[in-house]
Amino acid sequence: MMKSDAEWRESLTPEQYRVLRGKGTEPAFAGAYWDHSEEGTYLCAGCGLELFASAQKFDSGTGWPSFWRPVAPDRVGIETDLSHGMRRTEVHCARCGGHLGHVFNDGPEPTGLRYCINSVSLRFEPAAARP
Ligand code: FE
Repeated sequence: MMKSDAEWRESLTPEQYRVLRGKGTEPAFAGAYWDHSEEGTYLCAGCGLELFASAQKFDSGTGWPSFWRPVAPDRVGIETDLSHGMRRTEVHCARCGGHLGHVFNDGPEPTGLRYCINSVSLRFEPAAARP
């Protein structure tokens, strides 16, 4: 799914555009999902791909929704991010390339990973709404 920059600007809210297309970060403890524990699936806000599930969500204390793995390894891509004087691993949607957040090595078992994701990059779908 390849959209032009103008098409992304049109289909996303300004905050979604800033984070998904501009690799921005939402403020901690401010997004819709950091404190959200309903059962269901988190889709890419850009393209609707299923990325994360409530079963792998945990409270990291960071103020961002955190998961110890995506629903499948091929749903996300990673890239080294050297911005802001840090060396981090950026995480993006494998289908539309939208920026999601970063992955760190201080997560819980069984993976030891912490996918630290912006709420604004996600759209929650409750389990009850699924066919
Ligand atoms: Fe996407």
